[in-house]
Amino acid sequence: MDARKVLIIEDEKAISDIVKFNLTKEGFATDTAFDGKEGLDKALATDPDLVLLDVMLPSMDGFEVCRKLREKSNVPIIMLTAKEEEVDKVLGLELGADDYITKPFGLRELIARIKANIRRMQEPPAAETNSAGIQDFGSLAIDMDRYEVRKKGVALELTLREFELLKYLAEREDKVFSREQLLEDVWGYEYYGDIRTVDVTVRRLREKLEDDPGNPKYIMTKRGVGYYFRRS
Ligand code: CA
Repeated sequence: MDARKVLIIEDEKAISDIVKFNLTKEGFATDTAFDGKEGLDKALATDPDLVLLDVMLPSMDGFEVCRKLREKSNVPIIMLTAKEEEVDKVLGLELGADDYITKPFGLRELIARIKANIRRMQEPPAAETNSAGIQDFGSLAIDMDRYEVRKKGVALELTLREFELLKYLAEREDKVFSREQLLEDVWGYEYYGDIRTVDVTVRRLREKLEDDPGNPKYIMTKRGVGYYFRRS
């Protein structure tokens, strides 16, 4: 198998160099870009397996790069954030980033996240192996092979992570899961993210899934415990 290629979009040469060095050591191929515009062009032209994207960049910031890239590509994107405000923005905006990591970060953690995100893109989730084909959950039909969800026949545009979360909960109908457990099972045990990631993904999923996201009928909150799926 060819080496997985990571595009590093980061204007700080010292950070770019050390990330590149460590990824190379781990067997990845790398490419680098030092401003937002160059990064976006390279991401679109070279089809990397993952994009590591700094927020503060010259010529076009990471938020804009992420938005523009997402319009055209499903490549996993990990955002590098330096401040708490940036984390809030990454979580709050519908940017379509798959993950983020806060500076200063440990290289082991970064590499574990990169591997986890690439693996999730390339392989079906390991959590369930016995399901295939289209499964009906009331007014929802989930196509386990094609990663598609239809609500009353209308296809929903879900990200990979939203799909995986919905599938996980739907297959375990009415069972309540804590945020920690969902993080571990849906995002992967190597995932070091914080549990807000789960809340944000649930919110996005509800916006796409529910007639009234404020009064959900599918993805239910069990106060003080977590979330569960209910057939509707
Ligand atoms: Ca920067």
